[in-house]
Amino acid sequence: MKDLFFDLDHTLWDFEKNSREALAEGYDFIDLTSFGVSSFEDYLQEYEKANDWCWGEYREGRMDKDELRGKRFSLALKKWGLEHDLQLGNRLGSHYVNTSPHKTHLVKDALKVVKELSERGHKLVILTNGFEEVQHLKVDKCGLSPYFDSILTSDALGIKKPHRGIFTLALELSHSSANNAVMLGDSLQADIVGGRDAGWGQVYYNPLQIKHHEEVQHEVSDLISILDLPLRK
Ligand SMILES: [Mg+2]
Repeated sequence: MKDLFFDLDHTLWDFEKNSREALAEGYDFIDLTSFGVSSFEDYLQEYEKANDWCWGEYREGRMDKDELRGKRFSLALKKWGLEHDLQLGNRLGSHYVNTSPHKTHLVKDALKVVKELSERGHKLVILTNGFEEVQHLKVDKCGLSPYFDSILTSDALGIKKPHRGIFTLALELSHSSANNAVMLGDSLQADIVGGRDAGWGQVYYNPLQIKHHEEVQHEVSDLISILDLPLRK
């Protein structure tokens, strides 16, 4: 039986849906319209750009966790000349981190697939490039915790996917071995190339069927297809 290491965001936890819901609540709670922000849709568009940029900086080690939390919101408000209002950025950041981990939308069939794999006898582990307290809360709230042996975050381990070291640490902590481990996730680089380079099996969850030139062991466009893959030996 293979040990299955699942990514969390965008793979099991419906990041888009959960995040948008939390952002919409923050928009109303802080009343961004009264600050001159034109609409939630415009704000969302600016936020997504700012968030992607900040995460890129964070991944490269040029921005730390605390800075990322507020800065993506300050940057999102640049269009309306509010980027220097750090207090506003921080209020939005706090509202978001306190709201979004409580959201429980999962990717289609996530719970069914995880439950079935667990019943088949696989050891299941979450291996995520996220913040320790946030990722644990998400897994608990959305009902996934009974099926997982452990939740390993880059935040706690001090190293992020796709770096080799996080895969080595994950094996040690899970008493697994590279030839028995499979990484399942939606990020071609972080999850799949990272897992492959560490000598693990890989299942690339590619719902939009994005074209690529990487050699991947298994690729699925929906989670339910994972149940048909040869993951026993
Ligand atoms: Mg992901």
